[in-house]
Amino acid sequence: MTTVARPPDDALAEIGPRDLVVHDLVKEYESGGYRLRVLDELSFVAQPGELVVLLGPSGSGKTTLLSCIGGMLAPTSGSVSLGDREITSMKGTALDEYRRTDVGFVFQGFNLLASLTARENVAMPLLVTRSASRARAMARAGELLELVGLADRMDHRPAQMSGGQQQRVAVARGLVTNPTLLLADEPTANLDHIQAQSVIRLLTELRDDGRIIVVSSHDARLMPAADRVVQMADDVDPIEAGGTDIAYAPGEVVFRQNDHASLVFVIEAGRAEVYRELADGGEEQLAILEPGQYFGELGAMLGFPRSASVRAVDELRVTSHSPHGFRMLLERGDGVGGDSPPNADAPPTADRRVPGHPGGDAAASR
Ligand code: ADP
Ligand code: MG
Repeated sequence: MTTVARPPDDALAEIGPRDLVVHDLVKEYESGGYRLRVLDELSFVAQPGELVVLLGPSGSGKTTLLSCIGGMLAPTSGSVSLGDREITSMKGTALDEYRRTDVGFVFQGFNLLASLTARENVAMPLLVTRSASRARAMARAGELLELVGLADRMDHRPAQMSGGQQQRVAVARGLVTNPTLLLADEPTANLDHIQAQSVIRLLTELRDDGRIIVVSSHDARLMPAADRVVQMADDVDPIEAGGTDIAYAPGEVVFRQNDHASLVFVIEAGRAEVYRELADGGEEQLAILEPGQYFGELGAMLGFPRSASVRAVDELRVTSHSPHGFRMLLERGDGVGGDSPPNADAPPTADRRVPGHPGGDAAASR
């Protein structure tokens, strides 16, 4: 397979006490019986207050690298450290804590919830993790919307805002927990030139307070704003939205409530039961899902633990997708935009079908 990312020459030269250190990071995916080495011993160091740009074309491993830095994806080898903490060896509550308090994520295509106002979208991470009262979360969201220049758009819903404004809301949401690291995946990808400029300017303004901002882009317009550029190689295979096949026997659990979430699942055959495990040991069934339907997207996309469990009802065959691969799958469907994702990990809603997906068509036409 092709080599993907190259470390900059100055990698690991001098390391400060609050630096982000990516060291010899390797990530390989198994896909259709062959191995794809997406990150090949990639190393770089970033200091507080820096804006780092991961520059590379589609498929060069930018989302993979951001996911490894954000503790949402385990690398094949190598390490990611923040100060004296090695993220790649963290597990359980320490990892959850890292993701919740140190990492803010700005997703490709905004990922705002269409039914919520700008302010509610920004407050979401605090509300979901119950780390602030509703009143405090909404007040904090208001401050951040002012910071990103949207004081007059607090109560607008995503559809009432321009792409640039939606991206600003997504940046504000990424900042709501006051993270040490702000990770932004192609924040200018869906924007026109003027909107892209304003988002780039916003990102450069945000680095003043000592946080590290890592931005992925295939857009060279971001380069002048960067303190550091990590060049991802351009000699990689075309990106595929296809996921990995997994089979489950009847009753077998796909994931459990509170598990770490990194993948989104699409049902190819059989049925899956979504259920909640109750404190008294009982269970509450939330839904039965059929071929063409998907589950697990919110946890995977936002980096929250699973909010419910899922098991196979009968012989179940699913494909698992990275959040990015899943997004591509959605975007491939006719007439469906990628920026209005379904709004729950569970319980599922009626429209959680992958458009144009064979399973989805079969199920829909029944
Ligand atoms: P970028 O964000 O730069 O477009 P990605 O990190 O999304 O790149 O993907 C890099 C490569 O890894 C692509 O070829 C993609 O198809 C592959 N890939 C990403 N996620 C998975 C996965 N879960 N399983 C198999 N291959 C994957
Ligand atoms: Mg990507």
